[in-house]
Amino acid sequence: VTDEIERIIRAGMTETPDFPSEGILFRDLSGLFADADGLRAVSAALVDGVDAETVVGVEARGFVFGTAAAVATGKGMLAVRKAGKLPGEVLAESYDLEYGVATIEVHPDTLAPGTRVVIVDDVLATGGTLAATIRLMRRAGWVVAGVAVVIELEALGGRSALPADVEVRSLLRL
Ligand code: AMP
Repeated sequence: VTDEIERIIRAGMTETPDFPSEGILFRDLSGLFADADGLRAVSAALVDGVDAETVVGVEARGFVFGTAAAVATGKGMLAVRKAGKLPGEVLAESYDLEYGVATIEVHPDTLAPGTRVVIVDDVLATGGTLAATIRLMRRAGWVVAGVAVVIELEALGGRSALPADVEVRSLLRL
């Protein structure tokens, strides 16, 4: 990762203490979404050189970087939805949140069996979301070629919550 990419991410990020709850330092990348050159450069850097046909983004902020990365590198985009948004038969995977549980869903017939995918998100925190997404991809019969995030919050140990055989790329470690 180049110094230039790091600089672009820092310029497009705000840090807000105690949001959405006490003790959380929230990183928001709305400024980066709005930066035309920055959005393209950062999104491309997430998946450049990864041997995958399809980018996977998890609702909602994963849709922004996922779609931008897909378009920038000539890949397709698979949208993993929060529970209850997709019609018809779905595969579902649940994971624990600080309070309660979240569920993500996908149509298992969207991609051919064995399709190589790269999963993209804005922030890697505890790793719960990405671990659930990896389980969901594997149950659907797709091959996880890697995971890529704009920001990795190293102190939260998310990387070690993911399967050891999945390569994790983070553009900025905080
Ligand atoms: P986790 O499953 O704990 O890795 O966190 C997953 C989701 O929560 C990510 O998709 C992030 O968008 C969001 N998130 C968690 N912690 C933060 C934070 N400190 N700042 C911004 N977003 C966060």
